[in-house]
Amino acid sequence: MIICKFGGTSVADRAAIERLISIIRAARQAAIQPESSDWRGPVVVVSALGGATDRLLGLAAEAGAGDIDGAIDHLKALRARHIEVAGIVSNATERAGVEAFIDAEFSGLERIVGALGVLREVTPRWLDAIAATGEIVSSRIVASALTSHGLSASWVDARKAIVTAADHTAAAPLWPETTKALQKTVDPELVARRIPVIGGFVGATKAGITTTLGRGGSDYTAAIIGACLGASEIQIWTDVDGMLTADPRIIRDVRVVPHLSFAEASELAYFGAKVLHPATIQPAVARNIPVRILNSKRPEDPVGTLITAERPAGTGPLTAVASKKNVTVVDIASTRMLMAHGFLRRIFEVFEQFKTAVDVVTTSEVSVSVTIDDARRVPEIMAALKDVAEVTREDNMAVLCAVGDGLRDDPAFVSKLLDAMNGVPVRMLSQAAARRNITMVMAEADLEPALIRVHDRFFAGVPS
Ligand code: ADP
Ligand code: ASP
Ligand code: MG
Repeated sequence: MIICKFGGTSVADRAAIERLISIIRAARQAAIQPESSDWRGPVVVVSALGGATDRLLGLAAEAGAGDIDGAIDHLKALRARHIEVAGIVSNATERAGVEAFIDAEFSGLERIVGALGVLREVTPRWLDAIAATGEIVSSRIVASALTSHGLSASWVDARKAIVTAADHTAAAPLWPETTKALQKTVDPELVARRIPVIGGFVGATKAGITTTLGRGGSDYTAAIIGACLGASEIQIWTDVDGMLTADPRIIRDVRVVPHLSFAEASELAYFGAKVLHPATIQPAVARNIPVRILNSKRPEDPVGTLITAERPAGTGPLTAVASKKNVTVVDIASTRMLMAHGFLRRIFEVFEQFKTAVDVVTTSEVSVSVTIDDARRVPEIMAALKDVAEVTREDNMAVLCAVGDGLRDDPAFVSKLLDAMNGVPVRMLSQAAARRNITMVMAEADLEPALIRVHDRFFAGVPS
């Protein structure tokens, strides 16, 4: 059985859902061919309609600021968009059912927004309840759209299928409980030869309180279901042709990377290749399930990226370059010359205490520099370290990460990379012993020129 996950742009409007239906029809036909090894599925995982999660979080913020009228206006516009998209459900009875569902969800949301507007406080728990609506409603529309187009589909409520801890807005799945819940909700649909359709990104605690898995988390849902139910492949349908050699929003002449190893994909996702949620790859690695990234706008074109445990050797040292902006560098210089283990332990304890994940780390004898994505708790971290260190922060920084399993076969790669940068100032530089990636930290303003130079040097003229 395969899992087909569709991102926001792949369910953004009626035309996108029409394409989804054709893709699922083809996947279903492939599953029931005599030569197919498994007649079940596919399982369909969908994101919220493109932009809907941002809108929901935006109106939650408005409610928190006391602007109830503004929040309700936005809610009404979002409801109208969903009703319009639900017009794809051609069967009148089926459509009436979907519209009633949308109305009920949005009425519930209106009550929440009204209450939060009075309280003027939006807790992570309420934020999850609001954000989850996007996937709950989109998946319900897609299930009915498939059914009304002659494919027997059934909606599965993600709040009953993905069980998580209570760490709202970035909830971790509870594996045994989720496996059991999926066996109860998804398995029977597969056995009955129906196509289960479930919203990504959403889960619930054991007590049934709605949670979310973090932004971009629908990919993670697909991988969790794939791992728990033993899928043969996880397909991530999106708006680009696959994993590209660099972020296409910055570099124009990017090309598709046809085959990646799990380790390469993991590094690329972690360092900013948004096409894949970083956590996605872990459950796939654990069960050795191939992941394929495909373009839902060009389903007939078999390009795409296949991600497996190993990739074919001999494709050059560099596979792709990932990048992310809006990074903060924290410099920590010891004031006591208390170095080595004691100092490092103290530093990382403080980051852990304030639940702030550290990405890149470089050290000298008396100082440590780290990069972080989420700078909300930096003031508290700085205060906690002030007795042992002088701490400074620098915002508006960026990370550029060169990734490739083949980097270890080219001992001179770092010097080639720095040469390609041609004078762009580098603030931090790190290469792990495994030599699968080289990470450079620089000012945000320098990222674009650096990326262009690196990409030109290693990919220009290379046939894809
Ligand atoms: P979806 O809504 O399908 O989940 P996302 O917006 O999360 O899609 O991810 C797809 C986007 O990721 C692409 O439109 C592209 O702009 C961006 N992206 C950034 N880096 C890369 C990369 N190296 N390869 C492919 N896409 C990338
Ligand atoms: N809709 C969620 C988001 O925008 C999850 C996802 O699309 O993967 O972050
Ligand atoms: Mg995504």
